[in-house]
Amino acid sequence: MCGIVAYVGPKDAAPILLEGLQRLEYRGYDSAGVVVSNKGLKMRKVKGRVADLAAAVPARFKGTLGIGHTRWATHGAPSDVNAHPHLSADERIAVVHNGIIENADELRAKLEADGAVFLSETDSEVLSHLIARTVEEADSLEEAVRGALKRVVGTYGIAVIDAQRPGEVVVARNGSPIVLGIGEKEMFAASDVAALVRYTRQVVHLEDGELAVLRADGFHTFASDARETAKEPLTVDWDAGHYDTGGYEHYLLKEISEQPETVARTLRGRLDDRFHIAHLGGLNMDARETRSFRRVKIIGCGSAYYSGQIGAQLIEELARIPADAEPASEFRYRSPVVEPDTLYVAISQSGETYDTLAAVQELKRKGGRVLGIVNTVGSAIAREVDGGLYLHAGPEVSVASTKAFTSTAVAFALLALHLGRVRDLSPADGRRVCEGLRALPGQIKEILALEPQIKELAGKYADSPSMMFVGRVRGYPVAREGAQKLKEISYVHAEAYPASELKHGPLALIGPEMPTVAIVPDDELLDKNLTTLGEIRARGGRVLMVGHRTADPKLADDCLVVPRNEIELDPILLSIPLQLFAYHAAVALGRDVDKPRNLAKSVTVE
Ligand code: GLU
Repeated sequence: MCGIVAYVGPKDAAPILLEGLQRLEYRGYDSAGVVVSNKGLKMRKVKGRVADLAAAVPARFKGTLGIGHTRWATHGAPSDVNAHPHLSADERIAVVHNGIIENADELRAKLEADGAVFLSETDSEVLSHLIARTVEEADSLEEAVRGALKRVVGTYGIAVIDAQRPGEVVVARNGSPIVLGIGEKEMFAASDVAALVRYTRQVVHLEDGELAVLRADGFHTFASDARETAKEPLTVDWDAGHYDTGGYEHYLLKEISEQPETVARTLRGRLDDRFHIAHLGGLNMDARETRSFRRVKIIGCGSAYYSGQIGAQLIEELARIPADAEPASEFRYRSPVVEPDTLYVAISQSGETYDTLAAVQELKRKGGRVLGIVNTVGSAIAREVDGGLYLHAGPEVSVASTKAFTSTAVAFALLALHLGRVRDLSPADGRRVCEGLRALPGQIKEILALEPQIKELAGKYADSPSMMFVGRVRGYPVAREGAQKLKEISYVHAEAYPASELKHGPLALIGPEMPTVAIVPDDELLDKNLTTLGEIRARGGRVLMVGHRTADPKLADDCLVVPRNEIELDPILLSIPLQLFAYHAAVALGRDVDKPRNLAKSVTVE
């Protein structure tokens, strides 16, 4: 969500901050601001886009130290005044904040009783007032910041500057990511590496409770008890080009089109042709331990949860271990029973999804064994888990997930193969799955070539007020993700149901104004699915069938035929035309495809 950028070094800070904020635009926000230090603080902040902020920053806005912010309002409407940075009354301290200060009302009342005058309605403004109270007597800015943070309950990533210490920036993290970027005689910090890759590939991730002091010549990090911590820089392999649209009209279309390559990257080096197994060294488990689990529990949010449902199905089928998926946001709040012989798997593209991170922390507290399936190397969830798999899908910029969803499902196929082959999955079945996985990139290319037909179908159905998506067993998570994609980016209401459940209630909704997208693979449930289509058509419902066979016109109005793989892997392929369907429906309706209303990438608040 919301973004932070900070700079200290020999260059002019404002252009670097604005560039960085632009790189964070994809995360979704409502206002933006910057402050630089040069014989006092100079600040500009506006409601709207980074381009509006850039237009509001005067040519003479010099200063080699500064911080910037894109806000996603939680306390107080989006407005110029509520935008960050927030200054102390004497304009000495400036703060930008991501997250939520839960005891802000109480702190505000105390500060106001003490004479502080607040300008904004935000929870964040308490920070600038609190820091300003002690900065005079404190030995250092970090001491004043640490003191203020001790009084705060909530989540934060913050960056702070002091007009009287024009050579340093203090940043701190608790629940909201902060990454340091190490340059040549300059230092950067941001809430996301996207803002840094143009300047450096050497980064350091802060842990929760950590604080860092940045000066042009380097940085120091401290734990919450003020002890200095030692941090190893990490080299990120994503570069600025990954964050361009690469000639596509939208990031979403670029990311859908990248899937042959991103799936190949998720598979690279992980399939073994001799034993028909998957090499997953990152799991950090030997064969004996891998055999010891009696259940698999998968947690994730949104599309990650749906890809987890595909994963649960794959694990049950290939490894014959009971497996299920649950939204991490629910799991964490229901005091889950954590069992020693259950393997937990947490999924997050960003590795910073707050609900999933909190669920992982709850599991760890209770001694659970947790694996992560994560795209962002070095992210909070990746650091927290016992082992896992990186997707290697490259940065996903568009808010709606596509390539990360597909790569997660592929990662689960690898995990299922691995768990299966240390148990009872035969070498012959192992070979069948390996060959199926290798065929995926080429088959995804074939599906992408169907785009003109999918675009036409999307145009035909996009004006429906509501759509039903149905699938059975393996097809059900595909239907759920298809409905989710359509809702997210086109705002067309969509329901997803198991096809088997239709006649137990939702069939009442079916009529000419509510078309159905039916996921109908050529598996052992084909006849059951065709019966469902008959029931829909008998009620006057229109049907778009997505599967392997061309349907009888009596059963479906339209058909999208995708290539066949192994039945266990077919859900991965069946999901792809639904991404293009949602994309073209959204374009036909004139939606802001990459930044759908009310949503943000990487949900780092509760
Ligand atoms: N809670 C703060 C606000 O509403 C920060 C929101 C954000 O993370 O952008 O201003």
